[in-house]
Amino acid sequence: YKCVQGRESTMRINLDSVKWNYERLISKLPPKHPVMGVVKGNAYGMGAVAVSRTLLRLGAKYLAVAIVDEGVYLRKHGIKAPILVLGYTAAFGQGIDLAIRYSLTLNVFSIEVLNAIQKKVRNSALPVKIHIKVNTGLSRLGIEPDEVVPFVKLIKYGFYPNIEVEGIFSHFGYSDAIEIESLKKYATQQLKIFKKVVGKVREIMNIPIAHIANSNGVEYLGEEAHLDMVRPGSSILGFRSFAKPPLSLSSIVTDVRKPAAGMQIGYRENVTATGNQWIAAVPLGYADGLRPECGDVGRVLIKGTRVPIVSGIMMDQMLVDVTEVYPVAAGEPVVIIGRQGSSEIRLEDIVKMCGGTEYSWASQLSKRIPRVYV
Ligand code: PLP
Repeated sequence: YKCVQGRESTMRINLDSVKWNYERLISKLPPKHPVMGVVKGNAYGMGAVAVSRTLLRLGAKYLAVAIVDEGVYLRKHGIKAPILVLGYTAAFGQGIDLAIRYSLTLNVFSIEVLNAIQKKVRNSALPVKIHIKVNTGLSRLGIEPDEVVPFVKLIKYGFYPNIEVEGIFSHFGYSDAIEIESLKKYATQQLKIFKKVVGKVREIMNIPIAHIANSNGVEYLGEEAHLDMVRPGSSILGFRSFAKPPLSLSSIVTDVRKPAAGMQIGYRENVTATGNQWIAAVPLGYADGLRPECGDVGRVLIKGTRVPIVSGIMMDQMLVDVTEVYPVAAGEPVVIIGRQGSSEIRLEDIVKMCGGTEYSWASQLSKRIPRVYV
């Protein structure tokens, strides 16, 4: 077992799986249809730089992040492709200055932010690109549909010479939907509203890129939703039953012992040894992003068997009961997410055991765990 950056615990991200997922996605689109790869949240935990490079190599034309700082991080790592900041950038603070300095495209849905951008970009040689966000049903960020035309008129007839409206977009609800029929129904309604708005604003101003389709939009709505660009994240990163999950997380046993009967196991005074249990320590904890809830119900793979975590998750370690698979020695491989022999724990299994969602688990895996790309 090789330590990476001095750490025995490693995330492996299989970029071939990302490629497989991406190619599956684009097979549903017309040839060369522009894709904006969503790499916010450190590419849902998988590492924004490596995933961005992979997506761009595969043909993605645009990237999307949630906040300006994520965009700056990509620029500092040599990513030159256009990047849209999907979230809110405030009129105060440094967000707009950084977006100008690092050529990030901004989501704008308020006059206050529009004015702040114009004020700051006045002396810049290049205009700032913006995409206008429309709320069509998610109730989160965006101009209400009937307020978009006045907003666009204001940009056109007001004095915003340094602002280029490159795009207009909206976002579907139901990104985690299990009930596909209700997803389709609600998203179809959203799409209809969005298309109507786009049609109206294009009578006033040429806004080249309209986009709405996230992973489920591409998967379930078909070409009606492709518009000028699609904007998927999760299906490319493996969070769908039809996708290949690129992510695995492994570690090793660092300590094995048989505590005497009555001795406390871990920090919990009510968890005491029977005297017949073998307990192993694994160096991953909640500071690595493992949820404390998992401490009571979670399992990990050792010797191809799902063994239970006992006595909670601690900051940097957890304890597992390895009695069933004993003998086990320090150095024994442990799989938290992924395959071991013929057994597998997928993120969806972790969600079933411990709660949460697959995205929230993956994106919380902390930067403290080295990511290795295979
Ligand atoms: N667009 C926006 C505005 C988002 O917030 C997200 C992610 O939640 C996406 C696109 C990508 O969605 P998905 O991961 O469901 O493909």
